Amino acid sequence: MRVVALAGGTGSAKLLRGLASLVRDLTVVSNVGDNFWAQGLYVCPDVDIAMYTLAGVANPATGWGLRGDTFRTLSQLGALGEETWFALGDLDMATHLVRTRLLKEGRSLTQATDSLRMAFGVSQKILPLTDDHVETRVVTRAGSLHLQEFWVRERGRPAVRKVEYSGAGKASPTPSVRKAVAQADRIVVCPANPVTSVGPMLAVPGFLEDLSSSRGRVTALSPMVGRAPFSGPAGKLMKAFGVRPDSAGVAKMYSRFLDAVVIDSRDADMAPEIERTGVKCATSDTLMKTPDDEVRLSKELLTA
Ligand code: GDP
Repeated sequence: MRVVALAGGTGSAKLLRGLASLVRDLTVVSNVGDNFWAQGLYVCPDVDIAMYTLAGVANPATGWGLRGDTFRTLSQLGALGEETWFALGDLDMATHLVRTRLLKEGRSLTQATDSLRMAFGVSQKILPLTDDHVETRVVTRAGSLHLQEFWVRERGRPAVRKVEYSGAGKASPTPSVRKAVAQADRIVVCPANPVTSVGPMLAVPGFLEDLSSSRGRVTALSPMVGRAPFSGPAGKLMKAFGVRPDSAGVAKMYSRFLDAVVIDSRDADMAPEIERTGVKCATSDTLMKTPDDEVRLSKELLTA
């Protein structure tokens, strides 16, 4: 079975680990909206979380960065008067150095990502959705902020007016992404922030149509329980984006391409409403605390 997983960051990575243990032909299509220049290096947080998780080297405490990493370079940068709110580990920095050099030599982000994932011994393909620069921007009362500035530097505190995907209108999905989606038997939307991880993908012209016309069945694991996400700022951003901050809102936002969704058992009362939008709804314990949860939910998504 050919499986394509649409992935954001830390929530998605847990499901990717489960899927990778079950499926030989797994391709990850990664969000690029939180890509960011830090210390002159091009950082792709979601690509790297997927790559480090599948390589088995991710930091288990945070879900991002590398296990056992240290931050001596960052503290020296601070001593030199540089901004250090975006934490780059000493080992993690090697990834960004290689990626930035490859891009400067003229390689595409797809090519740079492929070189890196092979160097990390990851057998699954990791495809950035687009080689164009798309940036998720959060418009607050204090002005427009890059998602990383909003979430990491400002700790998600400013009141949000709207969310924009700068550059998305002129971007296109890469040919490798389009081919993977067209040939997939299953497309799994990992639990991810609908506004900052899936939204930037859907904003790239053509991708929504690629998903809805794919012959593969599309299933999603909801990132919400009740009116809140398991982690992160999804609820606040969904409200600002005009999406109801619960599983029914997620299902509605994805309904143009979604065949089935797995929501938390505690939200079982939302199932009839979801099914009225034409999306099949299954319920489960959707929190992934252990590797067994990751595998169990992966199986449920592959059969939903
Ligand atoms: P981020 O960029 O690290 O915030 O990562 P994502 O885009 O992957 O978003 C994280 C989303 O995953 C949040 O909306 C969480 O609610 C969700 N999430 C995190 N852990 C779990 C989990 O164990 N189960 C489910 N269903 N969702 C989760």
